[in-house]
Amino acid sequence: ALAWHLVARPHGVPTSSDFALREIPLEAPGPGRLLVRNVYLSVDPYMRGRMNDVPSYVPPYRLEEPMEGGAVGEVLAVGEGVTGFAPGDHVLHGLGWRSHAVVDAARAGRVSERDAPLSTYLGVLGMTGLTAYAGLVAVARLTEGDTVFVSGAAGAVGSEVGQLARLLGAGRVVGSAGSAEKVRWLTEDLGFDAAFNYKDPAPVTEQLREAAPDGIDVYFDNVGGEHLEAAIDAFHVHGRAVICGMISLYNATEPPAAPRNLSQVIGKRLRIEGMLVGDHQGLRERFVEQAGAWVRSGELKYEETVVDGVEHTLDAFLGMLRGENTGKMLVRL
Ligand code: NDP
Repeated sequence: ALAWHLVARPHGVPTSSDFALREIPLEAPGPGRLLVRNVYLSVDPYMRGRMNDVPSYVPPYRLEEPMEGGAVGEVLAVGEGVTGFAPGDHVLHGLGWRSHAVVDAARAGRVSERDAPLSTYLGVLGMTGLTAYAGLVAVARLTEGDTVFVSGAAGAVGSEVGQLARLLGAGRVVGSAGSAEKVRWLTEDLGFDAAFNYKDPAPVTEQLREAAPDGIDVYFDNVGGEHLEAAIDAFHVHGRAVICGMISLYNATEPPAAPRNLSQVIGKRLRIEGMLVGDHQGLRERFVEQAGAWVRSGELKYEETVVDGVEHTLDAFLGMLRGENTGKMLVRL
């Protein structure tokens, strides 16, 4: 089997010399375990944080050991005492970044190709989808008619945030993304009312003011920095910011300059709240039911950028950090 190892801790933007793809022995599954051939691997922004040796809500990747991440695979063999799984079943598990894995059956979830395409368990109906849903419902407490602004809007979480916001009753939905093509996709295909390219020369604050001239009620932050500053400026009284991610800082080697306008939190009585999807597993069933129905009816669209081959997992990860994905970035094996 092949597995990606972290061999050096990146400083700033990771480079290929920080990683190595190595052969690992393929064992027969012991008691309570499954041998799995991975079919899809997820690459996610939070993995950049795990490459640093700092305490966080997930432990850092260990040097010289196989990396981990969300994956969907096919069960090849079942260890002693395992019930509920058989060869040929598909499972969602946490041992990605490799071609095959021996997975603890208690930590694998059965998924079915008959219910939904296997890739969607890592995206629109998976972790990133639940993040979007939980952020809007439980953290922002979205109410009918809210104007919602989401950054990283053409990514996996962001593209779902914008559409779910509309389906859950939002008024105006505004997004930002890093190319003209992505902006077009948001407004023409996904039904965003307005979108802008944050890489255009005009400051984000100005572009947001133009896209949401009457202000915003909810900001779903995937980016941080200047975007958060722009949202604080645009907020109505009692605005709510869901701090989901701050990808503009993940490779930064200096602290961010923005936001410089935090004092507005007082006068506007803003609520700025961080979230972790892991705290919202209780919403999963309701989310999958609702979002699954919207995917089947075509009201919730999703896009995937798929890179082929385990040997290209690192390219997919680095490409995602550079914005080469529209929707969820995945590796297909
Ligand atoms: P995406 O699919 O959105 O991919 C990342 C995107 O970030 C890229 O496509 C790129 O798009 C954009 N990006 C990269 N650098 C910058 C930058 N400097 N400024 C603005 N945008 C940038 O990833 P996900 O949907 O998986 O994750 C989105 C966010 O949600 C991340 O911040 C992630 O950490 C967070 N997250 C948090 C969770 C939680 O529980 N709190 C769970 C899951 C995700 P572009 O072309 O637009 O630049």
